[in-house]
Amino acid sequence: MVRVRGLKKSFGSHRVLDGVDLDVAEGSVTVLLGPSGSGKSTLLRCVNHLERPDAGFVEVAGEIVGYRYRDGRLHELPGREITRQRTQVGMVFQQFNLFPHLTVLENLIEAPVAVRGVPKPDAVAKAGELLARVGLDGRQSAYPRELSGGQQQRVAIARALAMEPRLLLFDEPTSALDPELVGEVLGVIRDLAVGGMSMIIVTHEIGFAREVADQAVFLDGGRIVESGAPADVLDRPGNERARAFLSAVL
Ligand code: ADP
Ligand code: MG
Repeated sequence: MVRVRGLKKSFGSHRVLDGVDLDVAEGSVTVLLGPSGSGKSTLLRCVNHLERPDAGFVEVAGEIVGYRYRDGRLHELPGREITRQRTQVGMVFQQFNLFPHLTVLENLIEAPVAVRGVPKPDAVAKAGELLARVGLDGRQSAYPRELSGGQQQRVAIARALAMEPRLLLFDEPTSALDPELVGEVLGVIRDLAVGGMSMIIVTHEIGFAREVADQAVFLDGGRIVESGAPADVLDRPGNERARAFLSAVL
């Protein structure tokens, strides 16, 4: 589902990604770990073309993100093609990022109607199904501020699913939540994993990672310094920095 090769990204003179290679199989879950500033968010943003790589490339579902290969080189795609590619990749952020002036239902149908041209009645029906799936049946008319953080994040997940993405990216989806609300959000993500959704999840929830991930990847200083089966990466990391980080968060 995802193939990253030789990915490099700098901000000014600061190299944030320093040659990242990563594969994510269809229907699998990859957990991305690493200290603050190691480049985790930047890597996710490159997968969704919110950042443009300086070198290397990302492929999603067999297409190079943001570019087309022709006459021996890469050509940037026109905006509407980039928009089409982005609709295949859902993203869920730490801060929920719901539209505050729209109801839950309006948040869910906005992009399917405006970007994908789904007829409104169909989008409304689908939104109802998705809200039931994340345990928020009957909250269609609520505004985000009327919901708890855990409920808002579940709406954000339903909103991402409303676009029928092939891949979901999560950037620390539970880091902004009160501890008692973390479980309900992890539960929704666990259900998606069981349902075969392809996902890359940045999280410090090590127990959750061990349980749902097919692959764990540890990023340090813009490089993958450890990757493999969760049990190996999380419980027996060979890398010194990974060992220190994991013993601090466990
Ligand atoms: P992580 O998610 O692992 O904490 P990030 O990918 O957010 O790391 O950031 C890695 C480094 O890149 C940090 O030092 C951060 O300050 C820097 N950085 C990220 N985005 C930008 C940006 N748009 N402009 C300048 N520096 C950035
Ligand atoms: Mg981050």
